[in-house]
Amino acid sequence: MKCIILIAAPAAGKGTISKYIEDKYNYKHISTGDLLREEVRKNTVIGKEIKPLLEKGSLVGDDIIKEVFEKEFRKTKSNIILDGIPRTLNQAKMLDSLDNNDGNVEITNVINIDIDKEVAINRIENRLICESCGSVYNKSIITDDKCTKCGGNLSSRNDDTKETFLERYETFLKQTKPLLKYYGDKVITIYNNTSLEDVYESVDKILKGDE
Ligand SMILES: [Zn+2]
Repeated sequence: MKCIILIAAPAAGKGTISKYIEDKYNYKHISTGDLLREEVRKNTVIGKEIKPLLEKGSLVGDDIIKEVFEKEFRKTKSNIILDGIPRTLNQAKMLDSLDNNDGNVEITNVINIDIDKEVAINRIENRLICESCGSVYNKSIITDDKCTKCGGNLSSRNDDTKETFLERYETFLKQTKPLLKYYGDKVITIYNNTSLEDVYESVDKILKGDE
């Protein structure tokens, strides 16, 4: 099983880029953010515990991340793209040990999506997400309040505020950015400040041959 890791500051476009890779290259997208929000939505034991952390933009502990991730990971046999994990060095080591246990998980690429802080803040403040299919829209350029792909309702995420962003951004610099060093040669950086087309083109170059 091939495994792509996405490392990116909040609002750098992880969700959109994951979806592109999922659709075009047939990777399964595992987003720990989505898995955690699902726990909150279902009001599970874990959900109750992490709700206040998510609202503040704080990191959820490694143990809980490991639990929700492994539950999902064990169900999948296809190539995977990881979004939101690893966020800490501990989690990176956890992934390496999965690798050893199963003997069949190979981290082929680590894609670092870079973005200017101001661009990211603007994106957060204008972000709308389809409640049904997860497509992402920008409030300032949409003409309809329904998803153009599936007709679902568009809404802002509760945690999409500038305050939460800044908190998450600091956490990213402290805890996650050092992972780029950890993965060394496997890291490829893509800048996502301008058009998505350019980003997709860079992704295609990286994944050439995987279609
Ligand atoms: Zn939709």
